[in-house]
Amino acid sequence: MSKTTTTTGKINVQTENIFPIIKKFLYSDNEIFLRELVSNAVDATKKLKALASMGEVKGDLGDTKIEVAIDKSAKTITIKDKGIGMTAEEIEKYIAQIAFSGAEEFVNKYKDKVDKNVVIGHFGLGFYSAFMVAKKVEIFSLSHKEGAKAVRWECDGSPEYQIEEIDSKTQRGTDIVLHIADDCEEFLDDHKIEGLLTKYCKFLPVEIKFGTKKDRIKPELKEGEKEEDVKDIEVVVDNIINNPAPAWTKKPTELKEEDYKAFYHELYPMQFEEPLFNIHLNVDYPFNLTGILYFPKLSNKLEMPKDRIQLYSNQVFVTDNVENIVPDFLTLLRGVIDSPDIPLNVSRSYLQADGNVKKISSHITKKVADKLEEIFKKERPDFEKKWDDIKIFVQYGMISDEKFYEKAIKFALLKTTENKYYTFEEFENLVKPVQTNKENKLIYLYATNVQEQHAYIDAAKSRGYEVLLMETMLDPHYINQLESKLKDISFVRVDADTIDKLIKKDDNTVSKITEEQQKQLQPIIENTVSKEQFQVTFENLSEKDAPMVITRPEFMRRMKDMNQMGGGAMGFYGNMPDMYNLVVNSNHPLITKILDEKNAEKQTSLAKQATDLALLSQGLLKGESLTNFIKRSVELI
Ligand code: ADP
Repeated sequence: MSKTTTTTGKINVQTENIFPIIKKFLYSDNEIFLRELVSNAVDATKKLKALASMGEVKGDLGDTKIEVAIDKSAKTITIKDKGIGMTAEEIEKYIAQIAFSGAEEFVNKYKDKVDKNVVIGHFGLGFYSAFMVAKKVEIFSLSHKEGAKAVRWECDGSPEYQIEEIDSKTQRGTDIVLHIADDCEEFLDDHKIEGLLTKYCKFLPVEIKFGTKKDRIKPELKEGEKEEDVKDIEVVVDNIINNPAPAWTKKPTELKEEDYKAFYHELYPMQFEEPLFNIHLNVDYPFNLTGILYFPKLSNKLEMPKDRIQLYSNQVFVTDNVENIVPDFLTLLRGVIDSPDIPLNVSRSYLQADGNVKKISSHITKKVADKLEEIFKKERPDFEKKWDDIKIFVQYGMISDEKFYEKAIKFALLKTTENKYYTFEEFENLVKPVQTNKENKLIYLYATNVQEQHAYIDAAKSRGYEVLLMETMLDPHYINQLESKLKDISFVRVDADTIDKLIKKDDNTVSKITEEQQKQLQPIIENTVSKEQFQVTFENLSEKDAPMVITRPEFMRRMKDMNQMGGGAMGFYGNMPDMYNLVVNSNHPLITKILDEKNAEKQTSLAKQATDLALLSQGLLKGESLTNFIKRSVELI
């Protein structure tokens, strides 16, 4: 090679010292320099492979691994590829001109934006992001082109750079050497870099080596040796930090159930639970989208989800904050979405308005609904088994998304207190004959707590009614939504009224006591409870029903429940005491007995005892009242 000549050039930018500005603006996100540089290395390698497959590069490409290495004493990080490389002209053209003019444009655009959050934080920052962590950057490159000369380029962040021919680089490709800035020395730590590589580069399509590791391999068996007789040999191998061909890049037909499960654990190494099922996304028109979504088995604990859906762009990790891209009700799913069509360098509010993003979101919704319907149709027993885990997604989706509602109403299940599952259609047909009231409205009875509402559930069952289980936080909203959608159906909690009035049919039984007698009894019973909370009424129930029943009107209870859940505006109801009806069964012998009792003291005591029993069955008898009840009971016995 001829004598080395060094050229000095000036980067064509108007703004002096742009790098301090870049650094300041992107400081919180400076770790992405590694993603940008490794992505460039991947591109260079892929370009070389493409040229080779077209016959433009001849011969064996040899090892094409990308290598990342830290030199602690020199305080450098090197990103080395064996890709197409660059000639001196190419470095001047692509790095010095294009890249830096891009930097200038960026700075001009964002220098007035004080709020860093306006910018999503993921730009196609490219090469110059190196200056977020480096005080000096060197490029050593040897182009794949025949007869090319190796070059070294150097720049310290000022608009001036040096470029020279060198002899020392003999291997095709590019080494980017970052001389780490004094305030960024945390990046010289092995764990830090390995962590960043696993975060951003885990699924890049070219193998990436970071140091070495020990591994065990099986030796070749000699004549007469059995596998269990020989010990593994320990060897030192390249530490490859990525999987260049992750499951989502393959066709669904190439993958088995185990492959999907294995990929789940590869994505979330700390997840030990198996996912319930997966959905493979694969669209190429009108936008490009691949990915695999998993329905996780959620634990009951309300924890902040750490394992979230990850967004990739051509296998480069972008973010695990997919808000606005994936519909809200599916953000608790796990998995991967890869789309080069999602704009990455815009604010979140802009993202929401983007046409492609909207289409992607509704495509995901549709796919999820289709998959659920498919499992429901093909494997109903399995679907029922999984229902308790997936119902939160389905209900949330039905509440928040019209299109999803329309699909889901066909496969969403209703669960009864006897753990039976019905579709809406099945349930309607089942209960229509017995649970239609005299106004021709269908009444769906439900319980929110099988233990506490046991007596009411029992009474309903004895009438041949079915009782649904609606016990989650979301159920009250779900009920509201269903009532607004389903015509002529009302949901009523089992304890909302006495059994005959829950589903009102005919006014039948006559009263055993006269109106006069009721008036006489009214104050006696009223004196046994708090007037603010209980309203005493008389009803002609059956002799076999309880002497007194406490009910909570559906409307008042819902208001209060909603308010407690943070329904906000209805503070009025929230501050109100719980309101109950104390229903006296005019036909019960005990009521006649109280009425007939001549001794006033005894009469009060009997009335109190009857009221307390009703309170007790509702779990409302507590503290001093409970103690008094027990004392009184002993005396009566
Ligand atoms: P972008 O990657 O968005 O084009 P960059 O600033 O990262 O912008 O890079 C500018 C150009 O420099 C690339 O398009 C490519 O032509 C060239 N380049 C960067 N890194 C490498 C590399 N490791 N090997 C070969 N060419 C590279």
